[in-house]
Amino acid sequence: MMLKDKNAVVTGSTSGIGLAIARGLAEQGANVMINGLGSAEDNEAVRQSIEDDFGTKVLFSAANMLKSEQIIAMIAEADKTFGSVDILVNNAGIQFVSPIEDFPEEKWDAIIAINLTSAFHTIKAVTPGMKKRGWGRIINTASAHALVASPYKSAYVAAKHGIAGLTKTVGLELAEFGTTVNSIAPGYVWTPLVEQQVADTAKARGITEEQVIQDVLLKAQPTKKFVTVEQVAAVAVFLCSDHAASITGSTLPVDGGWTAQ
Ligand code: NAD
Repeated sequence: MMLKDKNAVVTGSTSGIGLAIARGLAEQGANVMINGLGSAEDNEAVRQSIEDDFGTKVLFSAANMLKSEQIIAMIAEADKTFGSVDILVNNAGIQFVSPIEDFPEEKWDAIIAINLTSAFHTIKAVTPGMKKRGWGRIINTASAHALVASPYKSAYVAAKHGIAGLTKTVGLELAEFGTTVNSIAPGYVWTPLVEQQVADTAKARGITEEQVIQDVLLKAQPTKKFVTVEQVAAVAVFLCSDHAASITGSTLPVDGGWTAQ
């Protein structure tokens, strides 16, 4: 139980990658505050299932990552209830695809707020405690789009490049305080979000779902396989280990070779 007595907050963790990371941390003995939008009933079921499976304390926060005061209150609640926040995972994120000339201003603002600014608020809030205790792990779910671009994803690529810069900066600031700050940069990961995208794209383009997967999504991914949420979670768990104490300020690709090209 590598993370016994450690307390974690994982944003955007009621589904997909964040949920797998929350489960991975709980499996190692960490108490976890999960977070996300959606129905109270579904979120309670997710919370209970992690607690049942791993026997650690699991809390749920409905904080909306668009709202700074809710983000700050979420960290304060975790700190008060658990007694500390030792591990912070900034994972909440949304996507919107459009040519720049048509890109809606409100979508730009929302993507920058959720995918980038929310991490500024959470990191700012957890840093004093991590510095004081001399141990901390901050992990951001970035994307291959933190390292390379694709057309029509201006806000997402800008936010993800931004998170890589924030990671480097805070990594330097916390380097002497036993606290590492890293980003994981996944390629295409098989999540409910992507599954839905496959069905929608197949319909829109009049091609089969298999063609969407091979010719559209996995075109950029040399392995021709989706990354799994468990593979991303395993990297997050490793980054929390003592063996990873010298990895900081980095953005680690988990992308089937995408950004090697
Ligand atoms: P997902 O849609 O399955 O999960 C997103 C989570 O974020 C959900 O729990 C949702 O409730 C929550 N969320 C969304 N908006 C929120 C808000 N305003 N406030 C609080 N919570 C909010 O998505 P996913 O595919 O697991 O993506 C998670 C992260 O991984 C994102 O940052 C995404 O950019 C990144 N990522 C995903 C892929 C991929 O292929 N799926 C690839 C690279 C990076």
